[in-house]
Amino acid sequence: MTSTPGRTDRVADYTERFGAFLESDVAPLEAALAGQDAGTPWNPRLDEAGRMHPAVWEARREAQRRAAAAGLYAPHVPSGLGFSDFTRAEMQHVEEYVYRHAGLGLGLAALAWTEGPNPAIEHCSDAARERWLAPLLAGEITAAFANTEIAVGTDVLAMETRARRDGSDWILDGTKAWITNAHFCDVVQITAVTDPGAGTRSLSMFLVDATSPGFTRGRDIPTMLDDGLTGELHLDGVRVPAENVVGEPGDGFALAMAWINWRRLCRGGMCAGWGTWLLDRALDRAGQRTSGGAPIADLQAVQHMLADIDADVYAARAASLQAQAELDALPGGAFGVPLHPDAPRLMSLVKVINDEAFLRVADRALQVHGGTGLRKGSPEEKLYRLARNLKIPAGTVEIQRNAIARGLLRGTR
Ligand SMILES: Cc1cc2nc3c(=O)[nH]c(=O)nc-3n(C[C@H](O)[C@H](O)[C@H](O)COP(=O)(O)OP(=O)(O)OC[C@H]3O[C@@H](n4cnc5c(N)ncnc54)[C@H](O)[C@@H]3O)c2cc1C
Repeated sequence: MTSTPGRTDRVADYTERFGAFLESDVAPLEAALAGQDAGTPWNPRLDEAGRMHPAVWEARREAQRRAAAAGLYAPHVPSGLGFSDFTRAEMQHVEEYVYRHAGLGLGLAALAWTEGPNPAIEHCSDAARERWLAPLLAGEITAAFANTEIAVGTDVLAMETRARRDGSDWILDGTKAWITNAHFCDVVQITAVTDPGAGTRSLSMFLVDATSPGFTRGRDIPTMLDDGLTGELHLDGVRVPAENVVGEPGDGFALAMAWINWRRLCRGGMCAGWGTWLLDRALDRAGQRTSGGAPIADLQAVQHMLADIDADVYAARAASLQAQAELDALPGGAFGVPLHPDAPRLMSLVKVINDEAFLRVADRALQVHGGTGLRKGSPEEKLYRLARNLKIPAGTVEIQRNAIARGLLRGTR
């Protein structure tokens, strides 16, 4: 192990195996998908409503099942549940490797993200573990996380979805919006008000079977991402057994934050990986494209763009790794329930630093490619749109600044 936090032997083993998996399993799946006129994994063809082509979804699912069988799908999940229990610092290296080497291909789906097992669901009951978590870990089913509503995004505690007791069961009513994987999920982690007026103890989290009576998938919500995955969910008197409460009633806000903070921290490896990939592509392009009879890489104007990309990627990677290592060292780590009071500032630093650095990186990478970078479907065009998106989901950059300032001011007044 070197002095770089998280660069352990088991990470080296993981990335070597993941690299081999990309060749042995992912490349043939990508080739098969290319013959189906369904678009590519991250630029799928969409139907009229804006939904992802089913062949792309199925190719992603197959990549997930194979990754799970190879022990590659969920290295972040605790070893007590059968997986590797990698630290956040280790996960940053894993994520950077995957995003750099998978690019915008199917390999990205092979590492669990929004639709896979997450730090909140790990708090489920033994019965729910068998019913939902085990198949999720095996890549046999997918999940969604439903917190946001049409009228309530940032202001989470103002949500209107309600859960009331009926014997030992709960009955859920409400509408969730902007939900990733709304169309395809098998199970949804839904937050709902169970104790109105109780502040951060007012919410609970429920695992809702997507085949439950009263559960329906609503309209698609196409965004500039064009990923065909975002939509609404409706709950009309959905009955949920007590064993499907995640954690304890009242833990919903803390569990929602565990899920959201997981997505925030994944920005570190994601942006370092994609940022390096974009830098490699920009270097390549600058060496080949000529102007005035010489490669544009000879021009100081272009050299400075390359240098600025490198500076942003390097700084964001280093800051994220430092924060993830500090989080790993806190009692309860990054996703403890309750969460250590030093944790929110560190997680928000990772998110805001990466969201803003990666938007600059994607902008400059596109600029180096000139008009070619603007072509619809080019990696630079897609990642530019994706980078712009990053500043909103999992908490806006303004909200990250609120959390950072709260952490700085804690105990000073
Ligand atoms: C592609 C995509 C996927 C998503 N996936 C999911 C999902 O899977 N599950 C899920 O539950 N949600 C999901 N979301 C919802 C996402 O988390 C919200 O969009 C986000 O939290 C912001 O809420 P909002 O859009 O309602 O913005 P608003 O809350 O309306 O914010 C509007 C503006 O006001 C600012 N603002 C609001 N309140 C404050 C404040 N207190 N202090 C400072 N500034 C403030 C914001 O920063 C922003 O600039 C997704 C969204 C997108 C776009």
